[in-house]
Amino acid sequence: MSATHEVFNQVEPLVDYNLFAGNQALGAALKFNAPALNTAHLHALGDTLGSADMQTHARLANVFTPQLKSHSRFGHRIDQLEFHPSYHALMTAATAAGLHGTPFSAAEQASGHAHMARAAAFMLFTELEPSILCPISMTYAVTPALQGNPAIYADWAPQLTSRAYDPALKLWKDKPGVTMGMGMTEKQGGSDVRANTTQAVPDGSDAWGQRFKVTGHKWFFSAPMCDAFLILAQKPSGLSCLFLPRVLPDGSLNQLVIQRLKDKLGNKANASSEVEFAGATAWLVGEEGRGVPQILAMGTMTRLDCALGTSALMRQALSIALNHTTQRSAFGKKLIEQPLMQNVLADLALESEAATALALRLARSFDRAATDEHERVMQRLLTPVAKFWICKRGSHFAQEAMECLGGNGYVEEGGEGVMARIYREMPLNSIWEGAGNIMALDLLRALRKADAAAALAHELAPAQGMHPALDHLAASLPTRVELMATEMEARRLAQDVALAVQAALLAQTAPPAVFGAFCDSRLAGHWGHSFGSLGAGTDFATIIQRAQPH
Ligand SMILES: Cc1cc2nc3c(=O)[nH]c(=O)nc-3n(C[C@H](O)[C@H](O)[C@H](O)COP(=O)(O)OP(=O)(O)OC[C@H]3O[C@@H](n4cnc5c(N)ncnc54)[C@H](O)[C@@H]3O)c2cc1C
Repeated sequence: MSATHEVFNQVEPLVDYNLFAGNQALGAALKFNAPALNTAHLHALGDTLGSADMQTHARLANVFTPQLKSHSRFGHRIDQLEFHPSYHALMTAATAAGLHGTPFSAAEQASGHAHMARAAAFMLFTELEPSILCPISMTYAVTPALQGNPAIYADWAPQLTSRAYDPALKLWKDKPGVTMGMGMTEKQGGSDVRANTTQAVPDGSDAWGQRFKVTGHKWFFSAPMCDAFLILAQKPSGLSCLFLPRVLPDGSLNQLVIQRLKDKLGNKANASSEVEFAGATAWLVGEEGRGVPQILAMGTMTRLDCALGTSALMRQALSIALNHTTQRSAFGKKLIEQPLMQNVLADLALESEAATALALRLARSFDRAATDEHERVMQRLLTPVAKFWICKRGSHFAQEAMECLGGNGYVEEGGEGVMARIYREMPLNSIWEGAGNIMALDLLRALRKADAAAALAHELAPAQGMHPALDHLAASLPTRVELMATEMEARRLAQDVALAVQAALLAQTAPPAVFGAFCDSRLAGHWGHSFGSLGAGTDFATIIQRAQPH
């Protein structure tokens, strides 16, 4: 009790709860996409990640941010990073959960839903702390591209797929587990990587194939303490993909110089740097001059993680908003009982469930694309669509969820301590790994392939006849695809494909109240331009009840 006043009508934080058990949208999407998946491990993980201890690690890792130690105290260049112990605790937990390369292990592959299982776990972890997942995500994504050099992959695969984390800067084979990053973006060109100027010149060959000396820079180079990187560099034959380890096979340090760390809006626990390669040693991966498609095998998977990650951040923001409005009163009622707040919460719940449904539908294609033609086409189509639309909705979503908490939402230690963090994180998934326009243009490329329109129609078919607005949109899409939208229309097309697929998925996985309200608002136009403008006939209670985190 304060000496001057009684403190009341403030909320109990959302802590020590199971992130998986209460997430009905996630449960429904898993049942739909991987009915045989045993979710016991997700239940256990949800318990761990919702704990007060883990929340403390997440907070500390973001308050005590990584520091670059460029030199030793005696002036030797060391290019090391120092992290708070909580960062390492989070990395240990993420690798133990198999969120990095584990799905590529033989045992996981045999299950038939390695990527789905990992996608759900990745979403749960994102709710706890998204920024440490940058190196985790890149290590997950690297395998398809790295397999372009079978000798290196054979040597590194055991450590890439293990569940062990070892932050030490030493030879990969002396470590129980490793992480990997990627370096594409240069000062003069990020999206347009053809403008890269970093050069690679031949330097002989060895057991890992053709070796090169690399000179140049990368303007964005996240997680520079990773054990190795895939980078792009110019050769006379064109841009090529190269494998560049931090420690060379003879145990010496490679010539990778970390210039400085980026001072970012959010994503604070993760180190993002600018680096130079001063004659660094690297090995060719894939074909010479075919570096862009080679490294895009990695980019495709990190784009999946952007969609999964933003969906999870939406879920976390919604859970916090529900927790707050359930406890806080204003004008004589709990906030959650106020009609207009119900409209906001229900609208956020629809967006969150639709994002989860689309992101996990995309994850399913990663398990099946190699053996199922429809899944292969959907992987190609839905990767840019999901990355574009879900990430584009993220910032708007976070702002509205923050506003549910009023002023507390805007304060670092209010908003359960994480609302401000979520808000700062949201734009990032939209920018990196291909910003919005790049994704929309990529969809146009995907649609130019034969059978894209037919595959889309096949995907939407199960929901036919279930809502007139969805039928109308689904009927119009093949023609729009056939006519091939111009670049000017690419964003609108990406949005409409996303909404159609989201609606078709909700028809199959969500209660009629959710599906109906989604179609009425997003497809039939009974909606405004801000969240909280659902039609009065919406079944608010059912939608909100389904979204409650407990
Ligand atoms: C925190 C952080 C970490 C990062 N980590 C890494 C990393 O580890 N490795 C790495 O390689 N990169 C990394 N990046 C870089 C990131 O992937 C790029 O910033 C991103 O791809 C955009 O490239 P750019 O910054 O050069 O912007 P630009 O390519 O200049 O794009 C600027 C804008 O123009 C738009 N645009 C571009 N071309 C077109 C077009 N033809 N038509 C219409 N619009 C267009 C884009 O959509 C974007 O909105 C990181 C970025 C951030 C913010």
